[in-house]
Amino acid sequence: MATEKLKVCIFKGDKVKIELRKPIKFGNQKLRAGVWEVRSEILSSPHIDYFLVVGESAEKDRLASTIKEFESRGYSSSVIKYKGIWFAGIGPFRVPDPLQILSHHSVYFFPEVKRPAIAKVIARNISDGRTVQLAQHFYVSPGEPFDLIIYNKVGRGFHFEFEERQSYEGEIEFTIGYDGKLLLINHIELERYLASVISSEMLVSLPMEALKAQAVVARNWLLTAAIKHHIGEPFDVCNDDHCQEYRGIRDGNNIARKVIDETRGEALYYKGKLVDTRFAKVCGGVTEEFNNVWGETFYSCSIFDGPGTYNMDLQKEDNFRLWIEQPPPAYCNTQGDTEYFEYGRKYFRWYETIDPYALREIINNKTGIDIGYPVRVNPLRRGRSGRILQLQIKGEKGTLDVTGELKIRAILSPTYLPSSAFYVKYNGQQFILRGAGWGHGVGMCQVGAAKLASIGWNYRQILLHYYPNTEVRQIHVKKEEGCVS
Ligand SMILES: [Zn+2]
Ligand SMILES: [Zn+2]
Repeated sequence: MATEKLKVCIFKGDKVKIELRKPIKFGNQKLRAGVWEVRSEILSSPHIDYFLVVGESAEKDRLASTIKEFESRGYSSSVIKYKGIWFAGIGPFRVPDPLQILSHHSVYFFPEVKRPAIAKVIARNISDGRTVQLAQHFYVSPGEPFDLIIYNKVGRGFHFEFEERQSYEGEIEFTIGYDGKLLLINHIELERYLASVISSEMLVSLPMEALKAQAVVARNWLLTAAIKHHIGEPFDVCNDDHCQEYRGIRDGNNIARKVIDETRGEALYYKGKLVDTRFAKVCGGVTEEFNNVWGETFYSCSIFDGPGTYNMDLQKEDNFRLWIEQPPPAYCNTQGDTEYFEYGRKYFRWYETIDPYALREIINNKTGIDIGYPVRVNPLRRGRSGRILQLQIKGEKGTLDVTGELKIRAILSPTYLPSSAFYVKYNGQQFILRGAGWGHGVGMCQVGAAKLASIGWNYRQILLHYYPNTEVRQIHVKKEEGCVS
């Protein structure tokens, strides 16, 4: 991963709309200027088994006991070597949907391709309907990035989804995945990618020091966590919130490049090891422990995102309700004088309602389980930030236990709830959810960081606030290469 180039999947799907400002070579064909739809047509469907990751190690032998344990519980297993690391998975599953295993932390799957799809790639000109058959695999490098525009979705599946015209630096690889989907993969230098990511993740109108803190945590994340997100895929990371939101060339890239230059190669270490730094939009007042969301790691902490200390135990139901009703003076408890403070105003505390009939259908659609008319939604366990880690939904016909913050956010909404830090009341007709924060809440709170920068904190102070006891060091690229690739 510490190599210079990064492969970012910028589109995966059946068809994508693109616009060419000039004729551009698409493999062995030259497409003329205009708007085109490029699609994959599956000629023969694939057979793929998906395995849920339950263990990883640099040595294959060390996975044996984990595999044995799961096999004794009736699962089949598979191992795969990806970027120098061995992963053990259990399965097989038809679709890589994390909701299928409701009692497990991990949401990483890898495919075992028994038979890849066979597909052809067709480009259709939108104005005259003329079609051209393209090659299965080719690279496109427009003379100027803006000669090629991709109409892409931002925030896929989330409440804020929208379409955007995007352009990219570097080459774009067009290919067909093993499942027959069309893949567009942008090959881009790592620091350039980071410059784009920090202008996508937060607005470049942010105070400089908040952007610099964001640049450091984004670099850490890439070097530690990104490797696990797309095991067995022909790219390193994807372009949406699942990895990091990446929207190609952005208006603010000049500022972002300055930010990257001033923090080039800097990353956070704890006891000599690179920290898997996560971050989220609005913590809601207290950050969540890493271990509660993604499983065991050597660095996991929770902090009060405000001045001084706060000693209320939010794992207790009564305390949590009070915390929601009487918010503390947290840094992300902001009012909307700029767009990012507006996030704080909207999501520091939020409110949603769900109709029980709709909830029954959502559960049915997402899990295939019919629990009947839902009568009660009970938090079983909360983390340090009050985020629910285990939830029970009781219906007239059955009970469903859901483990994991993202799965909990998915099960109570047609898309996702802003966070899993909420409590539930039933008013006789509807479930009423009152919650705090936007996102998983682990690591740096982006709105809180913006607030701190606006009152004069520098990026190193901000980083130490969200990641106490860590230190900023230069990455020695050569050394890291030995560890991760
Ligand atoms: Zn991803
Ligand atoms: Zn916060």
